[in-house]
Amino acid sequence: MRTKAFGATGVELPVIGQGTWNMPETGGRAKEAQRAIRRGIERGMVHIDTAEMYGSGRVEELLGEAIAGVPRERLFIATKVLPGNASYRGTMAAAERSLRRLRCEYVDLYLLHWPGAHPLQETMRAFEMLREQGKTRFVGVSNFEADAMVEAASYLRAPLACNQVLYHLCERGIEHELIPAANRHGIAIVAYTPFGRGSFLRASARRTALESVATKHGATARQAALAFLTREPGLFAIPKAARVEHVEENAAAGELELDAEDVAAIAAAFPRGEPGPLATL
Ligand code: NAP
Repeated sequence: MRTKAFGATGVELPVIGQGTWNMPETGGRAKEAQRAIRRGIERGMVHIDTAEMYGSGRVEELLGEAIAGVPRERLFIATKVLPGNASYRGTMAAAERSLRRLRCEYVDLYLLHWPGAHPLQETMRAFEMLREQGKTRFVGVSNFEADAMVEAASYLRAPLACNQVLYHLCERGIEHELIPAANRHGIAIVAYTPFGRGSFLRASARRTALESVATKHGATARQAALAFLTREPGLFAIPKAARVEHVEENAAAGELELDAEDVAAIAAAFPRGEPGPLATL
């Protein structure tokens, strides 16, 4: 699994991590999803993303169970506070609840899930305190436009680690403004929903172009898509997979490096489109 610098945090992270949204919450499918996460960790996908929102806390609990017994320092666990909870006191309390559910003494990354009504400065003040208390190593934002991302960073003494945003082959809008701004400020971009609900696999002419790049490398279309999304320094992706075979396929994408010709072919098949507001789910 390739790793690279995660923004200005000083840590290196695998280019491909693991998402947990919509993870099955009960029965055999939940157990399989937990096995998939553990297999992902063995394959190097140690950046695992969750949120207090997912399953109203249930997914954090399931993740906590899944990682029990894994040496904590091997993992990079990220979770998120809901905007409605993101007052100073609300953030501090939400973080405690998340830590309890995750059965962790600290998370590696704490994110504001999307911009909300509470003043950003207040949320960032809570984030600073959580960092000082050792309850999170790094902090970041999610679903932030470039200006708001830079504003959030300005309220912090330590670097804003990342902005986690929607990015897939059929939604490349962040390449216009957000990625350049993130690069200028040493902020990593974490691509969520990297498979875009499978939209990139539906359009047949585009799919053919992607598959021919994939075939050249003995890879699958999904692996080529993940390699494209993580092709530059500062770009990471967190596909979610509740099935072990999907985890295996996604992990192997972390070994795949596209050349300039491959990148150009995929970019031509999936045009960037015009600049516009940040797309979200
Ligand atoms: P995604 O990762 O693009 O797609 C997940 C879907 O793809 C699941 O149905 C999964 O199936 C399937 N899949 C995964 N690997 C596959 C493979 N190799 N072959 C075939 N199918 C495969 O979508 P997402 O869950 O929306 O996004 C990823 C993560 O980003 C989330 O889980 C969450 O952690 C984060 N996220 C954050 C935000 C935010 O606002 N910050 C928003 C959305 C998502 P199985 O599960 O059955 O394996």
